[in-house]
Amino acid sequence: MQIIRSTAQMRAAVRVARDRGASVGLVPTMGAFHAGHLSLMRQARGETNLVVVSLFVNPTQFGPNEDLAAYPRDEQRDAGLAAEAGVDILFAPPVDQIYPDGFATTVHVSGITDVLCGATRPGHFDGVATVVAKLFGIVTPDVAYFGQKDAQQVLVVRRMARDLDMPVRIQACPIVREDDGLAMSSRNAYLDATARTRATALRRALVAAETALAAGHTRATEVIAAARAVLDDAGIEPEYLELRSPDDLAPLDEITGTALLAVAARVGAARLIDNTILEVR
Ligand code: AMP
Repeated sequence: MQIIRSTAQMRAAVRVARDRGASVGLVPTMGAFHAGHLSLMRQARGETNLVVVSLFVNPTQFGPNEDLAAYPRDEQRDAGLAAEAGVDILFAPPVDQIYPDGFATTVHVSGITDVLCGATRPGHFDGVATVVAKLFGIVTPDVAYFGQKDAQQVLVVRRMARDLDMPVRIQACPIVREDDGLAMSSRNAYLDATARTRATALRRALVAAETALAAGHTRATEVIAAARAVLDDAGIEPEYLELRSPDDLAPLDEITGTALLAVAARVGAARLIDNTILEVR
């Protein structure tokens, strides 16, 4: 596996591969790899010829009081794991390669970024959309792989790619979980033993909602109450726990087809998110 730090070298490597007729897969990440990241890399490996993983802790998607400085970083370990997963290129640029002096452009996707995580993390999705647009411009992937754990992020990136005619397919990949159901996240490293145990309530809350729906409760108030009870038991006050359209994040009062139930909560030192797609069969 090659490690590339400059955008010029990254472009050159893609050009060489394209001349050979290779398709290009991109997995954008902020590092601190876990099995969730690796599942995206393996899927890219199975579907595209040149697999590029970007490792960039993007400063513009962190708010002023967020964990940019504390965000876990271990490039050497990440490089080993990416190589094992069959990645061809780890693109790990320094900040000034992505945001050189004079950088003045922001990509803003409106509407769907106002709710859920966008409501409490102003500017977050501008940072995400801008850096993903940059990465698409540098790597020119045929397919880009994103985790469904960040369901709103997938929608934002899809909308951006569609609106700006970016010739890339956005592939959403299933949420990878710990044995006890906790969605894997680099931020799980912030959890102490007590918080780690309490954190399982997020997934259990989503399962309680699934169970309520299976028992015929299709109203938003009912499925949310079922989930809320589990969070209450664990002493977790959610930042949000909402039922929304999985297509455009419009609020839903009633589940008729599919619905996204999304939760965010601070547990101990970590802000965690999780979600499930509920479906009336
Ligand atoms: P991050 O490094 O946290 O920005 O994540 C990089 C990519 O991995 C994003 O597309 C995430 O949605 C995805 N990802 C993170 N955690 C998981 C998980 N538990 N399962 C599947 N994908 C994940």
